[in-house]
Amino acid sequence: MPDPVDPEVTGAFPHDTNLPIAGERFAAGVLLIGRYRLVAALGKGGMGEVYRADDLTLGQSVALKFLPMDIALDPSRLARFHGEVRIARQVSSPHVCRVHDVGSVDGQPFLIMEYVDGEDLSSLLKRIGRLPEEKGIELARQLCLGLAAAHDRGVIHRDLKPANVMIDGRGQVRLTDFGLATAIGDAKDVTSGTPAYQAPEQLLGREVTVRSDLFSLGLVLYEVFTGRRAFPSISSSGARKNYAIAPPSKPSDHVSGLDAGVDEVILRCLEYEPSNRPRTAIEVLAALPGGDPLMAALNAGQTPSPEAVANAPIEGSLVLWVAAVMLFAILLGVYGVAKLNDSSNLFTQVPLRKARPSDMADKARELIKQFGYTDPPIGTAWGFQEDRIVLDRMGSAVERKANSIALTDFASPPLFFWYRQSTKHLVKTTGSALPGFFQFPGWVTPTDPPMTEPGMAAVVLDLKGQLLEFYAVPTRDDPGGTSPPPDSSVLFRASGLDAYDYRLAESNQRRPLVYADQRQAWKSNEADNPLAELSIEAAFCRDLPVYFFVGPRGDPDRFGRLQSRMPDVALIVISIIIASTWTGGSVLARQNWRRGRANAKGAFRLALYVFILMQFSWLLLATHTPGFFDEISIFGTQLGGTIFVCMEIWIWYLALEPYVRRRWPWMMVGWNRLLAGRWNDPMVGRDFLIGGLLGVVNTLIQQVLNLLPAWMGFAPNAPLSIREDLLGHGVCQLLIAQLAALFAAQGQFFILFVLVVVLRRPKIALIVALSIHVMLMILPGLIGSSNALGYHLIAIPIALVGMAMTYTVLLRFGFLAHFVGMLFVVLLNTSALTTDLSTWYANDGLVCASALSTVSIYAFYTCLGDRRFLTNRYLAEL
Ligand code: ADP
Ligand code: MG
Repeated sequence: MPDPVDPEVTGAFPHDTNLPIAGERFAAGVLLIGRYRLVAALGKGGMGEVYRADDLTLGQSVALKFLPMDIALDPSRLARFHGEVRIARQVSSPHVCRVHDVGSVDGQPFLIMEYVDGEDLSSLLKRIGRLPEEKGIELARQLCLGLAAAHDRGVIHRDLKPANVMIDGRGQVRLTDFGLATAIGDAKDVTSGTPAYQAPEQLLGREVTVRSDLFSLGLVLYEVFTGRRAFPSISSSGARKNYAIAPPSKPSDHVSGLDAGVDEVILRCLEYEPSNRPRTAIEVLAALPGGDPLMAALNAGQTPSPEAVANAPIEGSLVLWVAAVMLFAILLGVYGVAKLNDSSNLFTQVPLRKARPSDMADKARELIKQFGYTDPPIGTAWGFQEDRIVLDRMGSAVERKANSIALTDFASPPLFFWYRQSTKHLVKTTGSALPGFFQFPGWVTPTDPPMTEPGMAAVVLDLKGQLLEFYAVPTRDDPGGTSPPPDSSVLFRASGLDAYDYRLAESNQRRPLVYADQRQAWKSNEADNPLAELSIEAAFCRDLPVYFFVGPRGDPDRFGRLQSRMPDVALIVISIIIASTWTGGSVLARQNWRRGRANAKGAFRLALYVFILMQFSWLLLATHTPGFFDEISIFGTQLGGTIFVCMEIWIWYLALEPYVRRRWPWMMVGWNRLLAGRWNDPMVGRDFLIGGLLGVVNTLIQQVLNLLPAWMGFAPNAPLSIREDLLGHGVCQLLIAQLAALFAAQGQFFILFVLVVVLRRPKIALIVALSIHVMLMILPGLIGSSNALGYHLIAIPIALVGMAMTYTVLLRFGFLAHFVGMLFVVLLNTSALTTDLSTWYANDGLVCASALSTVSIYAFYTCLGDRRFLTNRYLAEL
């Protein structure tokens, strides 16, 4: 047994002189401020006297703590004391003694707190020496929970010692006196408190942090498990000496058979350097035998803080061979996607390799000059675009058989090149901020800015450079007189049609967007010409062509089509989301914020991440103009849209994330670590590897499903398509894919969460989610085709495997792995990945593949945790 009277403890308090040396200030039965009747004195410590009292108003026992007189005389100390109480009142934990209020009688301030019917740990230890291991661990666990609850609120105890650990009638731990030591002590004196239980940095007057409390915790636990002090005596001067000469002996030296985990965590708490100690009380809790702090926090009815979730006691590292196999599978899978792209994807099936964008633009410019528009262009823009109408036609197997439309059919190519120019700068000030949903401000499209300015001209070419469509707005000068007969031969030559095969038709059907004074249409000389169904029309203004079109009869002008890829359903969903953000979402967010549940830091970082992605992709993709006011106006529109989207994200994250964190905290561990900037965390690495593998496998499954009918001898599916509008913008594609993946992953996760909450049973929710997903995948095929049934029956189990994997990863490894999986899927599906590296677009695929490989290799390295080379532990062993 240690000597219970440590001279350094009892003699260290200057405040003692202000108190009566012996006896109590108040007698039992006294009524204070008309509400509290004193029952008995409970004890006297360094910080004042504690009485038990009856609260007559509420009919409850309370404890009143009278503080030293001199506090009342010093306004700044009194204010500090009030400040500390204000924060302490917010701490809510079954293991922290509640602070109710403050009061004063005769100028003597006192604290009103919960009365704990029990004994303090110091007298308990005096009575029984040490606690049995089992009991000790239970006590340690509750101590950690209480401490963590206060630390989460930013309250540091500063004076943790056995006398401040109460054990109530039910054997539950209650921590008292949070923050009081400094509140009462001297302003600049970080050492105020009880020296025997203080961390070295506190004793030396340097700083007091959460980790100083953990040092004190280590001392208390040392005593709990061994019944003796770790350091026989510590004072400020002794602190350095003690550590230099005699680091604490192992607890297990004094108690035989003590659990090694207990031994280790106590010694870690007692490290001299704060940075070597555990980060949080939850980490200490986690290191105790059989500790699951998340479950403990949940059982205690708390929403675990984002930090508690991030610090969950799961290292999440992988063993070397598992990680290596996964990395290898990812790299192989990325190659596999490129390989399958060569037979399943539109961009490899059409003659795109010969259609280098700069050459195509030159060709387009040349044609426009040949048509009589010789003024040099100032503003130009071009790009590739898939023809949805043609692709849908190809996707419908029945029709495809009847019309036998091949991929390279002239006049109906599924992928075309568009080019437009103007004798002024092309300025587009309208649009939505999100690239990929609508075209954003500054990103010139075939239709925006509209073809209204004289001097504007545009062409659509097939990938061989043959003319499919032409528009021009001639200058306003009109020489008058009658128009000469128009010459269409230049148009026929440009489109590769032989003029002798066609004769003039009686009437035109297509009305051009631009002004024209003469129009012509042609039809084939032979009725059985496969091109007989073509519509070939032109319009002229005086002797200049202003309009030309070659294409299937019923198809609308390619230039007239909006570039939006967003279906109406999606628009409705987005409107609902936006409307509910500013109503329900903001109310929820505010509520969480006020109750201290919201993850403010995480929400801000997420919004910032989205902001950076959006602004940078805009910077890279928009057609910027040298006109100051034009550019400012484009920038402003984009910035406003970006901020709007970021606010949506921010509000929803504040509103919903706490519920997920409470219900499924283990799903948010890796994500919260990443948000906290812990790039090197093994679990972050692990989740990236798992997500990467999932994404690769899911992409391969999609490709196989697409190729399956052809392999089985049925009519082939329409090819898959990438984001052809981003061809040649590989880096930008990296940014945009992250945005798309983030929104998709969040949406899918949220739907599953709602299903679980509504249906109550996770398994049923999972089955419902899976069925919805598979139906969405299969349904269009089932409706649109009769001869592909064999394919679809096989497709169902394959699709199911992919979906089941996705949900398993989400439920088992959490949101980060899910998001990474989505990111891989989006990138692999929308980038021009090909094994043919001689093509001009191979760069795009290389950017994508090298980004994914780099991330995966880095994840491989980090996920090994302590097993990786060159870590401290490894070096220490050398
Ligand atoms: P110390 O500085 O040793 O912590 P305190 O002034 O905080 O001394 O308390 C003196 C004693 O009063 C404690 O040791 C404890 O036994 C008792 N005590 C303090 N707070 C309470 C409470 N809320 N309920 C019951 N007893 C208490
Ligand atoms: Mg106390």
